[in-house]
Order: sequence, then structure tokens, then C-alpha cells
Amino acid sequence: MKIAVLKEAAAGERRVSATPETVKKFIGLGATVAVESGAGATASIADQGYADAGAAVASRAEVLADADIVLGVQGPDPDQLPGLKQGAWIVAGLNPFGERARVDRYAALGAEALAMEFMPRITRAQSMDILSSQSNLAGYKAVLDAAAEYGRAFPMMMTAAGTVSAAKVFVMGVGVAGLQAIATARRLGAQVSATDVRAATKEQILSLGAKPIFVESVKGIEGEGSGGYATEMSDEYKAAQAELVSSHIARQDIVITTALIPGRPAPRLISDAQVASMKPGSVIVDLAVEAGGNVEGAVAGEVVERHGVKIVGHKNVASRLAADSSALFARNLFNFLSAFWDKEAQRPVLDDEIGNAIRLTQGGKVVHERLLG
Ligand code: NAD
Repeated sequence: MKIAVLKEAAAGERRVSATPETVKKFIGLGATVAVESGAGATASIADQGYADAGAAVASRAEVLADADIVLGVQGPDPDQLPGLKQGAWIVAGLNPFGERARVDRYAALGAEALAMEFMPRITRAQSMDILSSQSNLAGYKAVLDAAAEYGRAFPMMMTAAGTVSAAKVFVMGVGVAGLQAIATARRLGAQVSATDVRAATKEQILSLGAKPIFVESVKGIEGEGSGGYATEMSDEYKAAQAELVSSHIARQDIVITTALIPGRPAPRLISDAQVASMKPGSVIVDLAVEAGGNVEGAVAGEVVERHGVKIVGHKNVASRLAADSSALFARNLFNFLSAFWDKEAQRPVLDDEIGNAIRLTQGGKVVHERLLG
């Protein structure tokens, strides 16, 4: 069983899908590991680190030759998989909806493509969940990015020269990223408030010492769909939320938006008029910018200024903390493959619950129900 670790080719991608720690663990299971030369450089891992852990460090073609499992952070370009073995697994964050044509190409190559972002949100798969591990770091980094763009301090400071007041931070969307953003902003001394469509988040917001801002007037809405994800809200709810947010947002210094709805464009939470209502010098970080954006005027990959307010739209925020995000991503992959490791077969054998959830292609065909029809 040979595991190949590729150097990421996507623009701006700094992460790597294995670390010396996970290489050692795979070898401990009985696998051999080959790492493409330079794969870890942008995550501060030298080739020697992989070699010391027992991996063969080699060219892409050598790494791919006879590989049974190909690991990536993002899905590799199908044109860049020379000599891929029939039936080889490609295990990565494959962005199946955004890169739908690529999924067809994996099928044509005879590969079995496994999309890690489709991992079901069940207790036993928590340690395999790349969305959680990466969102957590993105939520943390979003607050630091906001602090770096903000021309003022976060904590209240009483100095001999006078008092600096605490920044007011509002977090919209309290999933994994939002919770970490609340905790990080609190650690920096900000006054924090937060909102979500899922009523269950109210208690979580309170437990982190922040103030929940919720639409109470529209009845019968829990906002929670399958797997703990949000559902699309009614027009009535959206109108009530926009009104509540409008009055609150005008008093905020920093807004962090993280709202996503799986398989759909991100909900629009902040209009241009709401941006204009904020004080000059305020900062908005839109973590959903690559999914269409929560904020009107946000531009993916840029920091733009509208009405004196900076709107931060960094792409791939987890990758901006490449060493930690790689370490966690690599452990997610190891936890996944090792949980299904069959000692006799000397390879992972998936069960139906997880296999059917993440398998996109098999036997030359696209097989995932969410991609068919
Ligand atoms: P996500 O990234 O899909 O969305 C971020 C947040 O935005 C969510 O909290 C969502 O409710 C919110 N949102 C969506 N539309 C909104 C709107 N119009 N206004 C305000 N907020 C809006 O979510 P996530 O971070 O992946 O987490 C979703 C849930 O899944 C959480 O409860 C999390 O704890 C849970 N979870 C479970 C597991 C597991 O059991 N294995 C793993 C990870 C997360």
C-alpha cells in the first residue's frame, strides 16, 4: 500500500496534506509513503523532515507511480496525474459542486475520488472533519486580520494619557468559525455580540461571554436542518433579521461574517447601505467571500474600502496559518484512513455510511447522489 502526498498546485494554497507526524503513523500501519519534493515548503516543513520520518521524497511522476492512495488538500488537476493506477483513491477537499467537471475527469481516469468535505457530521467522524479543523483556524485568523486592518486597539486601556475604549465586535454566523472568532475577540478584550439563524447557538454565545442578538419576533423558526447545518430562511425571517442587524451594525467597529448554507450561495447579510451606516475606520471580514459573500461589495482575494469601511475578503483563510492548518488537516486524513484500516488487507476498507457519503466516483462513473440528476 503506497500513499502519495502531492505538492499543492492551486494558486495561494500553502497547506500540505501530510506532516512528518502523519507520515510516521502511516508507516506504522504498514504503508509506504512518497512525498513530492517541496510539498511542505510553504507550511514550514522541509523535505528532510519527511525523509527523516521515513518517506521517499521524489518527483511527482515517481510519487504517483503505483500509488494506491493520493492525498491532497485540494483536488489535484486530473491532467497532472500521470500514470495514476486504475482504482487509486484521491482523498482531498475536492470542492465537488464548485469543481463538478473535474469530478467527471477523475471518473474518466478510473480513480475513486473521496471528498473529505462530505464527511458526515456524526460523532465518530469528528476527528476526520476537515471543515471543522480548518474553519476553527479561519475564525481565529479572521479576528487577527480585522485587528491588523483596524486603526485602533481591541481592549479597553486606561492610561495616563486617557482611556481607549474597547472595540465592539459583531460575529454573524456562529458555527465552528464563528465560535472561534467570538472566543478570539474576547481574548483580545473586545465587547462581543453574535447572531445566527440556529436558536441552539444562543447558549453557546452566552457561554463565551458574548451577547446574543436574535430575531425573536418571527415564530416557529429553528433554522437548523440536517447534520446541524443551517437551512435557507423564510422571507419574513430575512426581513426581520435585516432590520435587527441594521440598527445593531451601525454601532459596531468590527463585523465578522461566516454564514454558509451547504450547496447554496452564501446568504447576503450586509447590504451596501448597512456598510455605509458604520463609522469610518470600521472593518468587516467576510469569511464567506468565496461562496458568494455575506457582504455586498466584498471582493474575493482583496481588501476593499467602501464608505470609509474596510471589507476584508481574503481567500482560503486557513491557508494563511499553513503550519497549523496543515497539521490538523493531515491528522484528519490520518484519522480517517486509520479508522478503516484493515490489517489483513493492509489497506483501508470503508463502511457504507461513510463510504457512500464521501465517494464521488467509482468504476469509471460518478456515483454520488448529490452530483447526479
Ligand atoms: P457553516 O460553516 O455551514 O455555517 C456557519 C454558520 O452560519 C452556521 O452556524 C449557520 O447556522 C450560520 N448561518 C447560515 N445562514 C445564516 C444567516 N442567514 N444568518 C446568520 N447565520 C447564518 O457551519 P459549521 O461551522 O460547519 O457548523 C454547523 C453546525 O454543525 C454547528 O452546530 C457545529 O457545531 C456542527 N458540527 C458538528 C460536527 C460533528 O458532529 N461532527 C462537526 C462540525 C460541526
